[in-house]
Amino acid sequence: MKYAKNILETIGNTPLVKLNKLTEKLPCLVLAKYEPFNPGNSTKDRMALKMIEDAEADGRLKPGGTIIEGTSGNTGMGLALAAIVKGYKCIFVINDKQSKEKVDVLKAFGAQVIVCPTDVAPEDPRSYYSVSKRLGEETPNSWYVNQYDNPSNTQAHYESTGPEIWKQTDGKITHFVVGVGTGGTVTGIGKYLKEQNPNIKVWGVDTYGSVFKKYHETGIFDENEIYPYVTEGIGEDILPKNVDFSVIDGFTKVTDKDAAIYTQRLAKEEAMFLGNSAGAAIKGVLQLEEHFTKEDVVVVLFHDHGSRYVGKMFNDDWMKKQGFLD
Ligand code: PMP
Repeated sequence: MKYAKNILETIGNTPLVKLNKLTEKLPCLVLAKYEPFNPGNSTKDRMALKMIEDAEADGRLKPGGTIIEGTSGNTGMGLALAAIVKGYKCIFVINDKQSKEKVDVLKAFGAQVIVCPTDVAPEDPRSYYSVSKRLGEETPNSWYVNQYDNPSNTQAHYESTGPEIWKQTDGKITHFVVGVGTGGTVTGIGKYLKEQNPNIKVWGVDTYGSVFKKYHETGIFDENEIYPYVTEGIGEDILPKNVDFSVIDGFTKVTDKDAAIYTQRLAKEEAMFLGNSAGAAIKGVLQLEEHFTKEDVVVVLFHDHGSRYVGKMFNDDWMKKQGFLD
């Protein structure tokens, strides 16, 4: 018999799927690393498990302990899965911009969820960075994960997702494109791929309202770049340690409207029911058209599943309210 000993053993080894219609006008082959096939429906299962395993190994996380994290949902889901199998409790701090579905799913996995305001500075005591840090200090036998600066986040992708993409493309990949939030995905995969072939180009997809693109191009952390935005999962108002800018060749920024519309188009035209950052990522690939030739093999990573966005990007009333549909 062939079976996984528990759900955690099913993390990783996701398929690579060719895009056909949306990318028709591009000269190159475009392949999607399809991460919603992970058990928690996102790529974050990989880093969540790796962060827990590393914390167990060096004693930061002890038996029966409480895992505390500021998470927009997907990391929480991965941590919650692993916590159930391994016997830990979870407290997640989330900001009020995130979809209600994400909060409900975390609660379904027995986690306690605390919602904080989005539009306050990171150093404000009400921000989700501050609240999760404080809870980490105050809760007995707890471990504050800090996915932004935790090196196991990047390492997970360096050890699993990067090698999978390299093998699945027979080393023919020429470009890797991915949305950037904590930076773990782009840095881990980008570093692994460039070690195999330094000619591979790595592009980050950023959003308007985030500091990454300007910082990469000028070295300036420009606070004028920071303002509220709708796109979920990518962009930051801080520079996480997991973003290694030296691995990234360039950033392209995608608008909230385009990210939402392309999330819908992935479902309608490719039968790929994916989250909002996948819409941003594929629009990012299209914006980079001038960089691709017909020999190129472009891999774009799609982070999570569409089910968490049914009340938002897949709801036309919501889309109209945002001014995204004519
Ligand atoms: N897309 C989604 C849906 C996410 O949850 C995240 C994680 N914040 C990202 C993209 C960005 O990935 P990373 O944090 O590894 O940069």
